[in-house]
Amino acid sequence: MTCGCRDQRAEIGDLGHLLVLAKSPECQHIIQSIIDHLPCGVTLFDQNLEMIACNGLFRRLLDFPATLFEGSLPSMKSLALFNAQRGEYGPGDPAELAGQVVQRAMAMKPHQFERIRPDGTILEISGQPLPSGGFITLYTDITERREAEETLRDKEGLLRLIFDNSSVAIFTIDSSGRIGAANQRMAEMFMMPLESLIGMEYVDLVDPGEQEAARKNMADHLIQDRPNVNLERHYWRSNGTAFWGQLTASHMPAYKDGHAGLVCVVSDITERKIAEQHLAERSHELEVLNLELTKAVEALAASNAELVAAREELEHLARHDTLTGAWSRSRIEESVRQEMLRNSRYGHPVSLIFIDLDHFKRINDGYGHAVGDEVLKSFCDIAQKCMRSTDLLGRWGGEEFVIVTPNSGLMIAILLAERIRKAVMAYDFPVAGHITASFGVAEYRENETWESWLCRSDAALYAAKEGGRNRVITDACEADEADEAELLDLSFLRLVWRSTYESGLAAIDAQHRNLFEHANNLLTSVIGERPKDEVLPQIESLVMDLLEHFRDEEAAFRSIGYPGADEHAQIHQGLIDRAGELVENFASGELALGDLFNFLAYDVVAKHMLSEDRKFFGHLQAVRDTAV
Ligand code: GH3
Ligand code: MG
Ligand code: MG
Repeated sequence: MTCGCRDQRAEIGDLGHLLVLAKSPECQHIIQSIIDHLPCGVTLFDQNLEMIACNGLFRRLLDFPATLFEGSLPSMKSLALFNAQRGEYGPGDPAELAGQVVQRAMAMKPHQFERIRPDGTILEISGQPLPSGGFITLYTDITERREAEETLRDKEGLLRLIFDNSSVAIFTIDSSGRIGAANQRMAEMFMMPLESLIGMEYVDLVDPGEQEAARKNMADHLIQDRPNVNLERHYWRSNGTAFWGQLTASHMPAYKDGHAGLVCVVSDITERKIAEQHLAERSHELEVLNLELTKAVEALAASNAELVAAREELEHLARHDTLTGAWSRSRIEESVRQEMLRNSRYGHPVSLIFIDLDHFKRINDGYGHAVGDEVLKSFCDIAQKCMRSTDLLGRWGGEEFVIVTPNSGLMIAILLAERIRKAVMAYDFPVAGHITASFGVAEYRENETWESWLCRSDAALYAAKEGGRNRVITDACEADEADEAELLDLSFLRLVWRSTYESGLAAIDAQHRNLFEHANNLLTSVIGERPKDEVLPQIESLVMDLLEHFRDEEAAFRSIGYPGADEHAQIHQGLIDRAGELVENFASGELALGDLFNFLAYDVVAKHMLSEDRKFFGHLQAVRDTAV
């Protein structure tokens, strides 16, 4: 149904013609049914302002009571008075107000006005005189329309407020790339009057270097609705200065005349960009500084390495004799003290060999100091070749040397000294020819001072010189050592059996002698540096005889009721275990023959027999005496 009032007014002319016929009941009926179907209130008055017709909507719109229309239709006058009395025309004298209404109607002029009713509803009232006299009036309730218009006005006002007071530039771009609308902030930002901005091409605001990209971007975005474009742009102001802007653009499908447009927001981010630039510069400076620092640290590390090398060189010089490369006296003393400590803690034996080259002065005198120096160096090479890797060679001063032999008892040290003595004697020194050396050997004694130990080896060396030079002499101050030294015939280097070793038990003594012989055979192999294959059967045979001897000896002890029999058997077991272990190590190459010999010949055969077994001799003698 068409409800526009202006369309309805077009019909009014026709109704005028009908008015002539309106007196007849048929026509009245037709008119009534026409106006009852109109979407607005309608009244029809004749020239005497008598109502000819009105529709139900009119009565409802103006809240007329039904009684007012009962019997005959009311006249304009009575209706106006009724309205005036109920306050429809506002405050004032009702008769006067009603009179004004009637007066206006009598003028029979077209009129249109709005009336706000006491309940707040708004009526649009539009009157039109009819050609044949009388007039028609239309009443439309426009309350909702007015409210909607007001709301729209409010919203528009709010948007305008935001638009004009925004801290960012807001503008639109039409399909031809021109600025359609812009806010005040945009004018300030680009330093241009608003009027100049409107209608100018957007890309003209962009830095020339970015114009091409901006144009393409804008054209693409105008064609298709993409997600919001968000990018940074370099813009130009009218005064030639530049600034950085953050642009956000949104596509508007139907902006103007059915064409798309863009709504854009630009915020000035120059300060942020400057801060970022400063930050980048600062971080670059820091990188440079860091690089310089790294270089400085590297240079420091290099000079530190040089210092360390120099210190190591100095330490090396302090620890080594510059001529021969042997340990310095202070370094030897250092390790000697460590070995003494190991001896007192773990009982590891350690020996010292004091060496002095014989008639060395003659070499200097005969061939010059330089040749003497070469002899000293060559002597060190010869000695080193004879030594084990754990032995330490030091130059004590002049043509005197010391060797410290860790984990070595007297026997091992004597053998080493002997080996060096022979090697020196055999060597043909360039220019100097053949020379000899003398050796003094002493094993460290528990709780002894370094000075005392050194003094003993020095005394042995003195004895060697006294004895005719070119020999190895041990320090033999005490009874046990005298025995040990005594049993070594140094001229041939063998263990010598003496009658004082005899117990009186023929079988035991025979076994003791046999073991001495075994030890001497082994010693020959050690000195002769015989291969392992040749030595192993010798060792096995020695060990077998040793086991048999221990068994027989223990049986003999028990048969005569020797009180130390059990303890002695335990010592035997300890020696057997250790022997097994060492033989195994020798067979696998982990142990030198000299070390094995030291244990089997010296610890077991010589030492054990000369100390533990001798205790038994005393007891046997006592048993015999009692028997007598
Ligand atoms: P002896 O058999 O009694 O030890 O006689 P010797 O000649 O070896 O002993 P003496 O102590 O009389 O002489 C040692 C010589 O060693 C004297 C000294 O000039 C020489 N000498 C000391 N240090 C060096 C050195 O570094 N180089 C050289 N070439 N000779 C040295
Ligand atoms: Mg000397
Ligand atoms: Mg000398």
